[in-house]
Amino acid sequence: MNEETDTTADVRDVVIIGSGIAGLSAAVYAARADLEPLVLEGPEPGGQLTLTTDVENYLGFPEGVGGMELIQNGKDQAERFGAEFTHGTVENATLEERPFELELSNGDRLRTRALIVASGASARWVGAENEDELMGYGLSTCATCDGAFHRGDDVLVIGGGDSAMEEALFLAKFADSVTIVHRREELRASEIMADRARDHEDIEFRWNTELEALHGSQEEGVTSATLVSHPDGYPSEKAANGADVDRETVEVGGVFYAIGHTPNTEFLEGTAIDRDERGYLYTRTDDAGRATTETMVEGVFAAGDVADPNYQQAITAAGTGSMAALDTEAYLETLERTEETAYEVSP
Ligand code: NAP
Repeated sequence: MNEETDTTADVRDVVIIGSGIAGLSAAVYAARADLEPLVLEGPEPGGQLTLTTDVENYLGFPEGVGGMELIQNGKDQAERFGAEFTHGTVENATLEERPFELELSNGDRLRTRALIVASGASARWVGAENEDELMGYGLSTCATCDGAFHRGDDVLVIGGGDSAMEEALFLAKFADSVTIVHRREELRASEIMADRARDHEDIEFRWNTELEALHGSQEEGVTSATLVSHPDGYPSEKAANGADVDRETVEVGGVFYAIGHTPNTEFLEGTAIDRDERGYLYTRTDDAGRATTETMVEGVFAAGDVADPNYQQAITAAGTGSMAALDTEAYLETLERTEETAYEVSP
């Protein structure tokens, strides 16, 4: 924790939970509005873009831009306008009383008049046998982080979305062969990404197939994987319902999960903030039925993937970050006016 950050006494105007692109965009806007935001950098500082290579679809960068560079620039920009950053993971949020109170994992408490939740989403795990033991030992959720350890290996990528294609294309630079394992016959990925993977000579596909178990040890890493297949897809489900499935154990040096993300919203459990069955936050519409970033608790706003199961793009996350800061600014102005009126009538 930054020594200059007083986490106990002051009541902040706004705390931003998360330092990914949504949190950074909110920080730039809130700082420029003189709200002196405090940005909490959680367990994955900088968010998912720090795990990616080139971002080719962020407007304004015709040649693409590195994910890490985009995030570092955003942080520099927010700091230039007075945003403060500190490490901290929120364990609990008390939102029934004003100001809101946040309890961090190190026991520190923060009080704030408004809150922007931009805590993003984390990679999902398949649920295969031995994955707990082998995660970080040949099993990974991040090709850009761990790909270089797999020079000359045969590797599997699990998933059929854009992330799986991106991971496979990156891994193909190092690995001998890359096999994309997808549970049905049709990819979810965009055409452009799917075509790139299909056209790559070192990338193969295993359709209608899922990963059932991993083999190996922390000493030798992942050595093989058991795959289960059914011609109609979703083989694990078919096997659970008693259908005949094919099983094959293949030798591999690495396995990469790319099956989507789960929003980081557990710390909001027990609060009045509404979440869907997957944990994504709901936000309100205004009186005219237009979208806002305000959650079901007045004064708490959401930005980025934490409230977005549909788009999940760097540019949409940055967009909702700026919206959350503008909504926060309007909320704080209303709050101030209400407080002034209350002061005038009750001497
Ligand atoms: P996603 O689009 O939700 O795809 C997840 C994939 O994993 C799907 O193919 C899904 O299969 C499969 N899957 C889910 N649970 C599984 C399980 N338990 N076992 C096996 N397979 C499972 O997630 P994503 O690829 O991470 O992409 C998320 C968002 O980020 C998307 O909007 C995407 O466009 C965006 N993105 C963009 C880029 C880019 O433009 N460069 C790169 C990465 C991500 P089904 O298809 O059968 O459901």
